[in-house]
Formats: sequence, structure tokens, C-alpha cells
Amino acid sequence: MGVANKAYKFRIYPTKDQEQLIRKTFGCVRFVYNKMLAERKETYEQFKDDKYHISILTEYEHKPIPKEIKAIVGLDFAMDSLYVESEQGEKANHPRFFRQTQKKLAKEQKVLSRRTKGSARYEKQRIKVAALHERVANQRRDFLHKKSCQLASRYDCVVIEDLNMKGMSQSLHFGKSVADNGWGMFTTFLHYKLLEQGKHLVKINKWFPSTKTCSNCGHVKNVALSERLYSCECGFVRDRDWNAAINIKNEGKLMLALP
Ligand SMILES: [Zn+2]
Repeated sequence: MGVANKAYKFRIYPTKDQEQLIRKTFGCVRFVYNKMLAERKETYEQFKDDKYHISILTEYEHKPIPKEIKAIVGLDFAMDSLYVESEQGEKANHPRFFRQTQKKLAKEQKVLSRRTKGSARYEKQRIKVAALHERVANQRRDFLHKKSCQLASRYDCVVIEDLNMKGMSQSLHFGKSVADNGWGMFTTFLHYKLLEQGKHLVKINKWFPSTKTCSNCGHVKNVALSERLYSCECGFVRDRDWNAAINIKNEGKLMLALP
């Protein structure tokens, strides 16, 4: 593996004196300051009294011992939740408070769109919306960390479909929901959490007919988007996404030549 990087980000709470020193330091290092300002202009203007975060990048020798694959799971990307897993058919649902914050954000954004740009009331509303945006982003990240952490500790190998989110959101007009779902961020978290432990993330071809295939007998048929249950001639009936997750797992095992 060789050298790996790991970045940590903390929010710091400086005292008034420290805050002044930070401001002065940035004032002196003009180049950095301007560069940061350009990048963070939006945030800076919204919060005026900017929050302080500290980033630490460490470099370390990292040679995880590849782990023998005993426990393996397949995940099917789901529209209404984050994923469905192959073992129990369990859906990873975003917590209720997250959906509530999302709703609130949508509501406040609507209010903002009705305000006159540049007015005092507009400014006030803009700050409110920005704060909600941050809360949604934080809640989502926490949730994705939690779920990826659970999977990486429970399983030696996770099999997923190699989805092209951009293409998918464009072609299916799911745009917002796919992006909001956080699948891309989730797989990134999952990947490094597995790698750290010498575990494996296997991506199967996105054209593999995971939804159309019966995970019991292998029969392939067309399934309408409205059909929530997969039912086969062989008598097998299962939740559509669960069936897909089982197929994804089996395809991954085949790729790894596992029994
Ligand atoms: Zn069947």
C-alpha cells in the first residue's frame, strides 16, 4: 500500500484573543487570505463572523493485511432510502430528523424566493437558509459515516453496483433525489473504511441485470418500475430491491471466485 494520507477536520472555538490573532495572521498572509476569501466568499458573506475550522493532513505508512473474505454483503442502491442489503433485506433509511430538516429547508427556500433581493428581510432569510443547508449537510455526513462504519466492521467484503450517478441522474431525471441521497459520498466512506482494515469493496458492472434476475432460479424478465415485488415462475417472491441486492452479492462472489 505504501504511504497513505488521512485528513482530519475539526471545528475550533477560539477565545476573543485567539480569534484576533487568527484574523491578524490571515491578514499578514495576504495571498492565502485572498485565496481563501475567493473560495469562501459565499460563506464569509453569509456568516460575516466566520466559523473557524482546522484541517490536519497526516501521512503514514499503511500496510493493512488483506483479510480473508468470510462475511460478504451486497447492497442495492435505492431511491427512497440509501440502500437495501442482501442479508435481511434491511433498508438504510435516513433518520426522521434528517428528513424533517430537509423539509424545513425546502420551506424556507420557498420563502426566500418570494423576498425582494437585497432587502433586509431577504438577507435575514438567506442566513436562515444557509444555516439549514449546513445542518442538512452535517446530518447527512454523520448518517453516511455511521452506516459505512457499521458495514465495514460487520463484513469483510461489500459488493455494490458501479453506478454512474451523473449519467443516471441525467437520463432518469432523478437529478435532485439521486444527488441528495449521498450514494457517491457513501461509497467513498465505505471504500476507505474497508481498505484501512484490509477488507474489500467490489464493484460489479452497472449493466448487470440485478433487478431483472430471479435470485432463486436465475430467470431473467422485465420488471416495471412500479412493481415493488419480484415474483418469479419458480414461486419465488421478494421485495424488488432485496432481490436485486442478493443478485449483486452473488455476482460479486462469482467475480471473486468464492463458493
Ligand atoms: Zn425464479
